[in-house]
Amino acid sequence: RKSVIRITTGSQALAELLGGGIETSAITEAFGEFRSGKTQLAHTLCVSTQLPANMRGGNGKVAYIDTEGTFRPDRIIPIAERFGMDPAAVLDNIVYARGYTYEHQYNLLLGLAAKMSGEQFRLLIVDSVIALFRVDFTGRGELAERQQKLAQMLSRLTKIAEEFNVAVYMTNQVIADPGGGVFISDPKKPAGGHVLAHAATIRLMFRKGKGEQRVCKVFDAPNLPEAEHVFQITPRGIAD
Ligand code: ADP
Ligand code: MG
Repeated sequence: RKSVIRITTGSQALAELLGGGIETSAITEAFGEFRSGKTQLAHTLCVSTQLPANMRGGNGKVAYIDTEGTFRPDRIIPIAERFGMDPAAVLDNIVYARGYTYEHQYNLLLGLAAKMSGEQFRLLIVDSVIALFRVDFTGRGELAERQQKLAQMLSRLTKIAEEFNVAVYMTNQVIADPGGGVFISDPKKPAGGHVLAHAATIRLMFRKGKGEQRVCKVFDAPNLPEAEHVFQITPRGIAD
C-alpha cells in the first residue's frame, strides 16, 4: 500500500477509535440508524481532508457522491471556519455529484476516477452506498443480480482507494423500528449482507445517544480493538 494517511474527524474520541483518523487506501463503512450522524461526519471530513498534513489533514480534494440528496453546502461554511480555512476555497475543492440510479452511481465513480489521475484527491464519499440498489432491485428474484452489481461497485471502490491513495467513506443505513427505535434487522447485518461487509476495511456502527450525542463503535477492523466512544454533532461539525 502507498503511504497511508489518517485524516482527522474533528473528534479526539473518534481519532482514538480509528487509530488517528479515517485511513487512505482503505474503505471505511459507517452504518447505523437514521440521524445517527453518518452524513454529518461526511460533512466534517469534506473539510478535514483539505487540511495540511501538520493539522492531521489529507491535503487533498474531496469527491462526494450523494444518492439521498442530503449534502448541504451551507453546513460546510461553519466547519471550514472552525478549522481556519476559507469556506469558498473549501467548497471549490469538493467535487459533488448526485446519483439517481445504481448505474448512474457506477458511471459517476468511473468519471471521478478519471479526475483523480490528474489531481490529488484524498477522500471519496458515497452517501449512501446501497440506497439506490434498494430502489432499483426490489423483487426477491433480483437479489442475486443486485449482489453481483453491488460487488462490482465495491470492487471499483477498492481499486480507487488503492490506486489513488484515497480514503473511501461509505454509509449504509440500518432500518430501525419507527416506533421504538429497535432494530428490525440485526445491526451487525446491515443491508448488503456479506458482500458489503467484506469490502470494508473498517466498519463503524453509529447510534444515537442523549441529545446531540452519538456513539460510534468499531466492528471488524483488522488492527483496531472493538471499542466504542461518544462524540457530538455540533453546528461546527463533529466534535468531542
Ligand atoms: P444520518 O446518520 O441519517 O446520515 P445525519 O448525519 O444526517 O444522520 O445526522 C442528523 C443529525 O445531525 C440531526 O438529528 C441533528 O441532530 C444533527 N445536526 C444536523 N445539523 C446540525 C447542526 N447544524 N448543528 C447541530 N446538529 C446538527
Ligand atoms: Mg445520511
